[in-house]
Amino acid sequence: MISRINSVAFDGIEAKPVDVQVNIAKGLPVFNIVGLADKAVSESKERVRSAFSAMGLALPAQRITVNLSPADLNKEGSHFDLPIALALLGAMELLPKEKLINYLAMGEMALDGEIKPINGVLAASILAQSENMGIIIPSVQLQEMYLVKDKIEIIPIKSVSNIIDHFSGRNVITVDTSTITPNLSPKNKYVDFSTIKGQEIAKRAMEVVAAGSHNLLMIGPPGSGKSMLASSLGGILPPLSPQESLDLSLIYSIAGELGDSSVVSQRPFRSPHHSASMPSLVGGGSKARPGEITLAHHGVLFLDEMAEFNKNILDALRQPIETGSINISRVHSHVSYPAKFQLIGAMNPCRCGYFGEGDRQCHKVPACANTYQAKVSGPILDRMDIVIEVPAIAIKDLNTSAISPTSETIRKRVIVAREIQADRYKDYGISTNSEATTEILEEVALLRDDSRELLEKSVEKFKLSTRAYFRMIKVARTCADLDSSKYINKNHMAEAIGYRRMNYYQKLVN
Ligand SMILES: [Zn+2]
Repeated sequence: MISRINSVAFDGIEAKPVDVQVNIAKGLPVFNIVGLADKAVSESKERVRSAFSAMGLALPAQRITVNLSPADLNKEGSHFDLPIALALLGAMELLPKEKLINYLAMGEMALDGEIKPINGVLAASILAQSENMGIIIPSVQLQEMYLVKDKIEIIPIKSVSNIIDHFSGRNVITVDTSTITPNLSPKNKYVDFSTIKGQEIAKRAMEVVAAGSHNLLMIGPPGSGKSMLASSLGGILPPLSPQESLDLSLIYSIAGELGDSSVVSQRPFRSPHHSASMPSLVGGGSKARPGEITLAHHGVLFLDEMAEFNKNILDALRQPIETGSINISRVHSHVSYPAKFQLIGAMNPCRCGYFGEGDRQCHKVPACANTYQAKVSGPILDRMDIVIEVPAIAIKDLNTSAISPTSETIRKRVIVAREIQADRYKDYGISTNSEATTEILEEVALLRDDSRELLEKSVEKFKLSTRAYFRMIKVARTCADLDSSKYINKNHMAEAIGYRRMNYYQKLVN
């Protein structure tokens, strides 16, 4: 009397098929779950037992075995409640076994039998589509089916009795897919660039950073507007491509961060606090879950007060910055999450905050600055494409009536520069200057002789690493793209070199 239904286990953001089999055999009454199940899955027994009794159903007084196959795949989470209950009902001949095998089911069960929402429904529905299966989900998650609504059969249920009534024909569930709307994630409100007084260098740097998807570190005293500059960046980034939107929707679905929306429609801007733990930042932990760096995929990770972050956490960012993904070791396995983000950091120049500021000069020069800045390690600094000073705002700038361009105007220039890059890299499988490898750069950067000469001189003078050398070419390439220039001219290179705030930088890397 074996009955089967399909469900999923998550490996990173990928949904892998799991075959849920229930066998009822003669013997002493026991209820066992086998197949590398975690604690939440083992607890399914109690929830299923309780939900059945709430419906007035008793479990058969026989030997019940639930097998989750393949056995070598980690099964985590409470979403196995529903498929276990359905397969059990199949084995009890209360649901048609031959129909169950054509469905994928996921949902948590409350003790009264109500089906509760779970993470990862979108990823599961994409798997169901590729395997030609229908999907049985908690009815409150119907909106999350927007991307697959016309491609698969969807049975949304509130309780297990709904599905019994559905298959028996007593009360057939039909879904009007026209009511499933693209419930877009709410639009963030960003500070408009035109409202930020002064800070012209920093504003230009933000434009370059947005255009080439570069990493940026801002160093300046408290109150100089570093956080405001960072939080205005979202308003000048280009829109998500359909593929990027799908990637993010999957990540947010698995992380349980979709909220009421069905699609992520805007580039993420994540700003975790400096007290954040390693698992919450990079992912993993007892329940494998994407961290902030994965939630910032295709978007911005902003670390305010960067020197206050745990040094191990900052160093853990090195791998994702290079590869665009993070590998996390777990007890029985490894898991990999995408994490292609732009890192934006902000820090005070020294612990008291006023190093290098005229009137309120730091009185513990230079130790205050040296120890503080050393908290951000050389290898992390080496991965910052642009390092700028953001000084306190001068009074004359506050009173200026000069009109700065709006975020929308800057965003248009950014989009043009991104289109130039997408076209340049179309055969290389990347889309921005920041992603280009040294080999690709050698081929496509197109430096004029005088700009290469300038670059080599400054590398020699400031004893910069090879990594820094190539990072400056990438930034110069973006400056040239904002200029719609085929070649990197001397002025583009000079701008890129100016963005490496040599005195601080040199002190830190040497
Ligand atoms: Zn100080």
